[in-house]
Formats: sequence, structure tokens, C-alpha cells
Amino acid sequence: MNKITAGTVYLVGAGPGDTGLITIRAQELIKNCDVLVYDALANPAFLGETKTDCKKIFVGKMLGKHSASQSDINDILIQQALLGKTVVRLKGGDPFVFGRGGEEAQALEENGIPYQIVPGVTSAIAALESAGIPVTQRKVARSFTVITGHTQENLCESGTESAEDRFSQYAKIDGTLVFLMGVSHLKEITLGLLKGGMNPNTPVSIVEQGTTVHERRTNGTLSTITKIAERERVSNPAVICVGKVAQFNFTSQKLPLNGTRVGITGTSSFTKKLSKPLKDLGARVYCAPFLKVVCDSQADPLLPPISEISWIIFTSTNGVHDFFRLLKKRGTDFRSLSNLKFCVVGSGTANTLKEYGFAADYVPERYTVLDMAKGFSARLKNEKSPRGKICALRAKEGSEDLAEILKKEGIQFSDIPIYSIQKDSAQIDSLLEQIDALDYITFASSSGASAFFERFYELKEIKEIEKNRLHAECKFVCIGEKTAETVGKWCTKLSLSNKILTASNYNADGIIKSISGDKK
Ligand code: SAH
Repeated sequence: MNKITAGTVYLVGAGPGDTGLITIRAQELIKNCDVLVYDALANPAFLGETKTDCKKIFVGKMLGKHSASQSDINDILIQQALLGKTVVRLKGGDPFVFGRGGEEAQALEENGIPYQIVPGVTSAIAALESAGIPVTQRKVARSFTVITGHTQENLCESGTESAEDRFSQYAKIDGTLVFLMGVSHLKEITLGLLKGGMNPNTPVSIVEQGTTVHERRTNGTLSTITKIAERERVSNPAVICVGKVAQFNFTSQKLPLNGTRVGITGTSSFTKKLSKPLKDLGARVYCAPFLKVVCDSQADPLLPPISEISWIIFTSTNGVHDFFRLLKKRGTDFRSLSNLKFCVVGSGTANTLKEYGFAADYVPERYTVLDMAKGFSARLKNEKSPRGKICALRAKEGSEDLAEILKKEGIQFSDIPIYSIQKDSAQIDSLLEQIDALDYITFASSSGASAFFERFYELKEIKEIEKNRLHAECKFVCIGEKTAETVGKWCTKLSLSNKILTASNYNADGIIKSISGDKK
């Protein structure tokens, strides 16, 4: 029997929370790994980026259950690697900064497993930075020291020294003090520092869930912060910053969406497309890519030879991508497409087509399937040349409107399901956990909105979520009327009074304009 070569284990930093703050190397590894071992600090959006057959193992704390012990985690990594799997161990922030990455590396080393460490953006710096605090600043702080707030780890070897005494020694360090895992020991930390002689008026800031939509900054001084934090119910994960730099707040008020928190739903490519411009305007974004586009392998035989087709209809960018993927697989010479015409539903789809080097021949004025079907049939009536086949390459779950209207107009066409949309309920569940923090949730399709509300309804029915309603201040932003209609129906069914906004331009840009307009 052949001996299986052990797979490599990658100890990877996922950054502090925002999906944009992960490294390119980490993304590459997540996309290609066989096994992903993760915990609560890693943003769940990364889980959607894996291969479909990737095994995902959660080792963090779950409701009512303890997290896996460090030796359990080491065993999982070793076992999976010995099966020949490529393993990514994804950790919040940087894998070595209080991440126990060193212990995992040691265990792998001892078991002869190859491994690599991939650095990450640590929350020790990034959470503070995101809240406007620089860890160093000329003439204010020349250094920063990152300290664990865990009292156990601050015990001296003999174990007789109190945590407070231990913390008092940090009072002598010049520069900024940054405590991780310190919220539940805030009292001991502050008392210790005061005991060590630190000025009671030293500014202190605590940043909870830095870089995420839940980010919150609480300010005080060494003598007041414990009470303030108690009153404000400050909780983990949070970074505590002690020092003069905590007086700063480098956050520009000039950005129009500064402080606005937006949850984006849809496919992974759509959430990415929308998150960039929203972030550029200062918004904080949570991506919930709960719709997965799955290419339909059955589509190829359904698509006639290109020479027999005169029009192809695309109702989304996904269809465009899958069409060209299919042609590539067939080995089609693109010169044979010269007589083909394209009808697309909106500017986004037209732009994707352009990326492949083709111009759209018909785009309706209003980007709805209904308008497209009406306009397209009018356009066909004016066509003089003899017509070949018309094929709509779209989602298996596509709207009935297209077929109905074309049929009514007497236009024959082949409806080819080139891809299907699957929903990932775990991603919706994660979004529902974020909902209290959000000012807006965006919906880019009727099916996406339905998937979201169906899951909410399901969880409510089985009493998996305590809440009966979605946070009422959160507004639902819909890409078009059809989506808004679906959201409206669900709101009635669930007795929700959340405001619904409909983009006037039925595309990503329209969604951004709706939010910006609403904020004014
Ligand atoms: N390896 C991680 C730290 C792990 S220890 C890193 O480099 O960031 C866990 C602690 O990190 C938490 O208790 C908290 O103090 C801090 N932490 C992690 N993510 C955070 C975030 N987004 N905002 C604030 N603190 C965070």
C-alpha cells in the first residue's frame, strides 16, 4: 500500500474582523484548502469562499458548549494532515499574537507535519486604529506594549503574587499599553496600574469588536473607566488602550456614510461589488454572501450550436460568466460569435459582457425582467432579417415573467438553466446575529430576500432565536420593485414595520444612492 504523504497545515491570520483586512495569501489558501479549522473570531463570510467539498471544522465556543481544548485542536490538525489533506487553521487577527499559534506549530513540528505560518493584521493595533487611535504618535507615545489581560497568565512563577501586583509593574513602561482579553479583569488592570503609580487621569479607551459593524469605543480615564465600562456593559472581544494616545480620534467626519452600518446580502461577487463603494464612503459593512451560484453541468447539451442562435438573453452577470465558461469548455472559436446578438437586463450585466469583449445589443431602459421582456419583444418585431434561435441563459430559479411575456407575444425561446442558486443558511444565521447593529440590509434579488426571510421565519418557528422581530430601525434596501414587493409581503406576514427603500436605478449604484439619499 502506498503511504499517504502528510498534507501541509497553514496557520493563517484572518485579520480583526472586516473581510477586507485579510491577506491575499490567506484568501488563496482558504479557496484551495481541503479542511478549514476555525473559531468564533474569524469572519463567517470567509467560510463561503472555500471549495464546495471543503470540510469545515468549528473549534470555538458554541451556545451551551465549551470550545475544543488546545490539545483537541492540535489532534484535529495532525489527523487531517496525516490523511493527506491541506489544512487551513484560520485564527482571528495574527496567529501568533495570543493566538496559541506557537503551540500548534510545536505540535505539528513534533509530529513531523509540514506547516507554514501566514501573518495576519492583529486586533491589538487594528481595532484601535479603526476607532481612530494610533498606537504610537510622535511626541506622545514612542512605543506600545501588548499585554494579555488574562490574570492566569500574569501570575508569576511562584503564583503568590496577586494579579493586581503584576499589573502594577506595567505602570513603569513608557508608551501605550494595549491589553487583549482584559475586559473581565478591567478592575484588576486599572487598580494595578494606579498602584504602580500611573496618573489616574491617564486616558483609557476600550474598543469592542473593532473593524466590524459592532465596533464601539468607550472612553474614560484610569480612575473612571471601570465604572463606565460596567455601565455601558462593555464586553469581549475588546482591546483596552491605556495612554495619552487614547485622547485621539482620527475619524474623518467628512465621509457621507461615516458611522453607517450596512449588511449586504447576495452572491459573493455581488457583496464584494457593493462593499467597496460603501466602504469608500465611510460605511461599515457586513457581507452575508448566502447565495451561491452553482454552474449547471447539464446546460451544455441544451445550448444549440452557436451558428443556430441569433439572440442570447442574460438576466444576470452570472449567466454571462457561465456562458463563456461553457464556450471555453467546448473549445469554441470566438470568431463564430460575430453574428450573435445579446439582450441583457441591466448595466451590470452589460458591463460584464463588455469585459469579455462583447457589446449588448438590447438593454431595457428600466432594469427589470418585465421591462426587458416587453422591450425585447418590440425590438424583435422590428427585425427584418430571418431569425435563428433565441436562448435565455439564466438561473434555474429565474422569474416566470420572462417566459410568460415572450409567450404572450408569440416569441419562441429556449429557457436554459445555466446555473442554479443555492442558499447557505449558516451565512443567514450569522447575518441575523449581526442584525441589531445594522442600519440597512440590502437585497439584490427577490430570491435572496425570500431566502433571508424564510430562514428568519423558520428559526422563529422552531424558537432557535429568542427575538420575534428584526430590529425595527434597520431599513431594507431593495434593488428594484420586484424585490421590494417580496420584502413587503414578508414584512406583512411577519408584522414587521421596518422601512423599505427601493433603488431608483436598478443596480448596485442605485442601492448606494438610496442609502446616501436616506442619510441626508
Ligand atoms: N490573535 C488575535 C488575538 C487573539 S486573543 C489577534 O491578533 O488579534 C483574543 C482577544 O483579541 C480578544 O479577547 C480581544 O481582546 C482581542 N480581539 C480580537 N479581535 C478583536 C476585535 N475585532 N476587536 C477588539 N478586540 C479584538
